[in-house]
Amino acid sequence: MNMPKKTPVYVTQPLLPDLQDFLPYLETIWENKVLTNAGPFHQQLEQALCDYLGVKHICLFANGTLALMTALQALRISGEVITTPYSFVATAHSLLWNGIKPVFVDVDPVTLNLDPRKIEAAITPHTTAIMPVHCYGQPCDVASIEKIADNYNLKVIYDAAHAFGVRHQGTSVLNYGDLSVISFHATKIFNTFEGGAIICPDAKTKLRIDRLKNFGFVDEVTVVAAGINGKMSEINAAFGLLQLKGIDAAREQRRAIDAAYRVQLAGVPGIHCLTAGEGDAANHAYFPILVGPAYPLSRDQLFGALREQEIYARRYFYPLISDFPMYRDMPSAAPARLPIAQRASSQVICLPIYPGLADDIVAAIVAIIAAPFTTTIDS
Ligand SMILES: *Cc1c(COP(=O)(O)O)cnc(C)c1O
Repeated sequence: MNMPKKTPVYVTQPLLPDLQDFLPYLETIWENKVLTNAGPFHQQLEQALCDYLGVKHICLFANGTLALMTALQALRISGEVITTPYSFVATAHSLLWNGIKPVFVDVDPVTLNLDPRKIEAAITPHTTAIMPVHCYGQPCDVASIEKIADNYNLKVIYDAAHAFGVRHQGTSVLNYGDLSVISFHATKIFNTFEGGAIICPDAKTKLRIDRLKNFGFVDEVTVVAAGINGKMSEINAAFGLLQLKGIDAAREQRRAIDAAYRVQLAGVPGIHCLTAGEGDAANHAYFPILVGPAYPLSRDQLFGALREQEIYARRYFYPLISDFPMYRDMPSAAPARLPIAQRASSQVICLPIYPGLADDIVAAIVAIIAAPFTTTIDS
């Protein structure tokens, strides 16, 4: 096969503005000598993100994992929390770091998000909250989850790490639940190198979170909680402000790549593309495909065939969180109780998608996937 590409292709490539454009921000920091602790760039980015995302309050963090851990503290969550095994490991780790027991519940076969129909059976007298994930930025069934949470008096904290800019039924998906947590890690669609945030609906909760992320300080001499240092620095916040200027163009490029994959993969038997729900505005953060039984190769064989051509796709999310050693002995982690998540985990490949990914590389990736159907035997 004739490959047009010259260099390895990774699942993502971080969005970076022109370095020249960042220098004025650095000069400002050097002039005013405020490096952290809710400085001017930190405050500006919080306001800019509230405006861009359409949310009321945002608390910036040094990364998404600290934001998840602090969100649980802010709502005083304890005991057991129902969550999904089909996610990045930080989802469940944030529970363990708070001494909370994760209870894994299987996912919906269409969205691969926590299946609300299976939540009730997992609720015990110790359950205090639900932590679903908008996996790949696909909104959870937020209405059903809210109903269950109301019935059982549970809190809902969404791990919305993938859901930057996603809208559901005319509003930001980050406005659902008690709190939502987002990540600005380098691999996410909007990055501040490292970073994250908690989205919260009211000023009182924001104040509590802002104290918790600053050691619990209220003023110079008053500490009201065993808080942590979770603050985003001025460099990261300034960078975020610059990144926001390019985010719409980046999202448009992602949308076009997403559309190209869908058209070109449509005729390939056994390859299934996940689709956004009706009325949802997607962010095209990922392009997951499921390699089904009708495809001639196993998922891992296709993954290997891509690697041979230096296409470094990723198997998000394999292994399941529930299969890692610190979780696998829990009763809710038993593979037999999570058949849909197990199947998805064994079938999924996330294909490369990022601004600047060239059309001919997308076509080359599709050609590798379609190769078992098109290769002619010649000796
Ligand atoms: C990236 C990610 C996190 C962690 O965010 P960091 O900013 O890397 O700490 C948490 N949950 C999910 C689902 C993620 O993808």
